[in-house]
Amino acid sequence: RFVLVTGATGFIGAHIVDALLSRGIRVRGATRSLEKADLMIKARPQFSHLLEFVQIGDFETRNPEGLVAAIEGIDGIIHTASPFTYDTINNERELIIPAINGAIAILEAARTNPQIQRIVITSSFASVLDIDRKGPYFTYTGADWNPLTYEESIDPATSAVVAYRGSKKFAELEAWRYIQERSPDFDIVALCPPMTFGPVVHPVDRVSKLNESNAMLWKVASGVKPLPVSRVPFWIDVRDLATAHVEALTSANVDGKRYIPASPERFSYGIAAQIISSAFPDLKDGVTQENQAIDLSCGVDGETASKELGFTYRSFENTVRDLISQVVLLNKS
Ligand code: NDP
Repeated sequence: RFVLVTGATGFIGAHIVDALLSRGIRVRGATRSLEKADLMIKARPQFSHLLEFVQIGDFETRNPEGLVAAIEGIDGIIHTASPFTYDTINNERELIIPAINGAIAILEAARTNPQIQRIVITSSFASVLDIDRKGPYFTYTGADWNPLTYEESIDPATSAVVAYRGSKKFAELEAWRYIQERSPDFDIVALCPPMTFGPVVHPVDRVSKLNESNAMLWKVASGVKPLPVSRVPFWIDVRDLATAHVEALTSANVDGKRYIPASPERFSYGIAAQIISSAFPDLKDGVTQENQAIDLSCGVDGETASKELGFTYRSFENTVRDLISQVVLLNKS
């Protein structure tokens, strides 16, 4: 097998690369930055025969350069690249358009290579979440969609957090529409993970370069006050999510499925603060302790993903410890 991973230099993408390599699967990463590609390859000398990179253009343009070369010889794609930042000036230009363009460009490119059988798309729980839905108790499943309209998402008064939810929803919808309208030879599987945390294996040389989700946990470790409040209590460890992607690519009978890989354990930044305080005595005095109520108003079906894709969920404690011990060292270097 030979798999193209977009977003391969990012937090989740790099774990997907490692999960594929550890199974002996050949990987081509796509990136805008050959410098990051070099760092990825140098950090994996044992896999130099299985790992290569190709440079592609930014998804802000409709037809990013390099995609034809990217898909040559490939038989599966994991499409993970999409902007995930809340530090924006123009949400439509920086978040929404690149997310949508990226999905369409990958599907269009894949159509020119008949060897490609499946594309796994990293969507997000952001495309599932209905922030205004109130009780009685309900459980989110892969059948749920966030009700945001395109107009609401691009409204300049809309926060980047909400616009990001729109970017993931409309990018994923385009992919499903493409399959329905164009009936290509390949099928797609979409994964909609909630907040994803855990150790980093992509090039991060300083704490300020941490990806958005892990940066929240490091804020807690560094004493932010008050603690951030998570809108939903759902999360997944990045290593479990990487396994879910590889299984979604290689498993039979999952074509056309939309999964929410999410741990059954609920989290809050208050729980993260407790874990950090007891596991890292040097940080304890600085960490804000707050008794945050755990949101029990709704649930999430993470079980279908774990059952059908065949993986188990790590504990939040394990995830937080593994990330924070790594970032403590990074912060000292
Ligand atoms: P990162 O920011 O670490 O990685 C995103 C990658 O996408 C980058 O490495 C970058 O690759 C690529 N990318 C970003 N913007 C563009 C663009 N405009 N054009 C082309 N490529 C671009 O984020 P994560 O690893 O955290 O997220 C990866 C995916 O997972 C995203 O689709 C995100 O929406 C989704 N997700 C993330 C969650 C989380 O909590 N982290 C939760 C749920 C979903 P390069 O710079 O090499 O070109």
